[in-house]
Amino acid sequence: MKRSIFLKIAGGYAAVILILVFLILIFSFRTLKDFYIETSANNLKNLGLVLSPEVSRLLNNGRTNELDGLAKSVGPKINIRITVIDPDGRVLADSEKSPETMENHSTRPEIFDAMRGKIGESIRFSTTVEQDMLYIAIPLTDENAGTAGVLRLSLFLKDINSLITNLKTKVLQIAFIITAFFMLMALLLSRTLSKPIRDLASAARNVAQGNFGMKIFTKNRDELKELADSFNYMTTQIKKYFEELSRQKEEVDTIISSIQEGLLLLDSQGKIIFCNDSIKGLLKVDNLTEKPYWQIIRIPELNELIKSVRAEKKNFTNKIEFDEKTFLCSATFLNPGERIVIVFNNITGIKHLERIKKDLVINVSHELKTPLTAIKGFIETLEGENLGSNSRHYVDTIKTHVDRLINIVQDLLAISELEDRGARLELVNVNLKSLLENTLKIFDQKVNEKGLRVTLIAENNLPEIKGDSYRLEQMLINLIDNAIKYSEKGEIRISLQHHGKGVEIEIRDTGIGIPREHIPLIFERFYVVDKSRSRKLGGTGLGLSIVKHIVLLHNGEINVESAPGVGTKFTITLPLNP
Ligand code: ADP
Repeated sequence: MKRSIFLKIAGGYAAVILILVFLILIFSFRTLKDFYIETSANNLKNLGLVLSPEVSRLLNNGRTNELDGLAKSVGPKINIRITVIDPDGRVLADSEKSPETMENHSTRPEIFDAMRGKIGESIRFSTTVEQDMLYIAIPLTDENAGTAGVLRLSLFLKDINSLITNLKTKVLQIAFIITAFFMLMALLLSRTLSKPIRDLASAARNVAQGNFGMKIFTKNRDELKELADSFNYMTTQIKKYFEELSRQKEEVDTIISSIQEGLLLLDSQGKIIFCNDSIKGLLKVDNLTEKPYWQIIRIPELNELIKSVRAEKKNFTNKIEFDEKTFLCSATFLNPGERIVIVFNNITGIKHLERIKKDLVINVSHELKTPLTAIKGFIETLEGENLGSNSRHYVDTIKTHVDRLINIVQDLLAISELEDRGARLELVNVNLKSLLENTLKIFDQKVNEKGLRVTLIAENNLPEIKGDSYRLEQMLINLIDNAIKYSEKGEIRISLQHHGKGVEIEIRDTGIGIPREHIPLIFERFYVVDKSRSRKLGGTGLGLSIVKHIVLLHNGEINVESAPGVGTKFTITLPLNP
């Protein structure tokens, strides 16, 4: 059961008041009784001392009958029992009973004390009158100052008790009035103390329900007032921050809704917890939230992307095609909560432009190829003619430029073909050693002209690999051509060896080398380290790009190590079966 503060305070006060009143009553009843008994005992002692000379006189003269008469006439008048006992404990006179019928009193404690010269006092149950009594025994002396007997005065305690009961009733009445008064005060005080707390609790409930305009006004001037002021300040601040947050959220919502990219937020279970309008438009679904993504988006590549992100807890980007469009999907893993944000960037337009560009390059290259071949044919015919030295010089220059143009066109066609997503390898068994031997023959003349040494070292029992022999030849031509082109002296060493589950081809030259900062860029299209040198040597900047494409199509790897002035080493690893 809920116990309110009011009940707790009021209950506490009531308990304290009741315990106090109870203790005071017990204490005062006891004190009252003790006080009455003490007063009565003193009165009895005084009375005894007043009566004792007359009683002693009659006792010393042996006038026992008169003594008994005195007791019986005085006792009832003053409502006190008077008894006279001789030193042997025999009763000589008694105001209530006939002395002969009474038993020996020597063993009574008060008589015992009085026989020894002290005033005896005792409260006991009297077997004679069958009531609680207060006894006072006064020692009586004879002419020789010896003990002549004892004068005992007894008072019925029931008289004291009825007196005390009267008093108790009055005290109880007063106690009841006081208790009732204090209880009322306690109730009022509890109410005053608990009201501001109740107000505060109800205001806090209101705030929790979003009513931030809630204020508390209290008449108190104490800590509760401070609490109320702090509460009011707190609600004002919360209202301010809440409004600011709502404004920011609205802004963010508007931005997210208006961006072109589709946006999805998935929880750790794959449920869509947020999405923007663009993605709804893309997927042609109105209500996406609170549903698992796989129920709505059935794109295998996207499933794979999400699985990879979740498994590796890393961000991934992938091209995804659906609904005849191409999207660049970036999936970001959010660590707290293991959520995933996926942004769908529509790159269909860019892809289309790229396609147009590639088509243009291929078409232009094809268109150029025929006239260039014709020009080269005519130049070769001209070369056979008997020309003057000037004309021969012109023909040689035209031939160099036409060769360069033919190279560019061939490289452009090759790279366009390789970059085409549909590029396929025509796999056959390739003996790399024979392929290299044949390729090297192409360069015999150039090698001799430059005075270079070419060595081919092949490991014994080298296995054949599965590969596209035409493209592999193209790759080797480009690499060996570069090695010869960029070496003025020394040696070109080509080695073939087993490497794991494949074959490693190493082409090492002692040429000009490549500066360190250029090495990461040399595989990019049209990248040349030294433009004028490359142009002079007939380079297009496409050779290594073609090489890299061919290696990757064979699932291989290519690495380069080079030092200017020392030489360059290309290492290609090709698997036995791509
Ligand atoms: P290019 O047709 O100009 O040779 P490549 O793509 O084949 O273009 O090579 C890119 C650049 O890398 C070249 O311009 C050249 O500077 C550098 N390079 C390639 N191979 C070598 C090599 N064996 N020695 C020194 N430099 C080289």
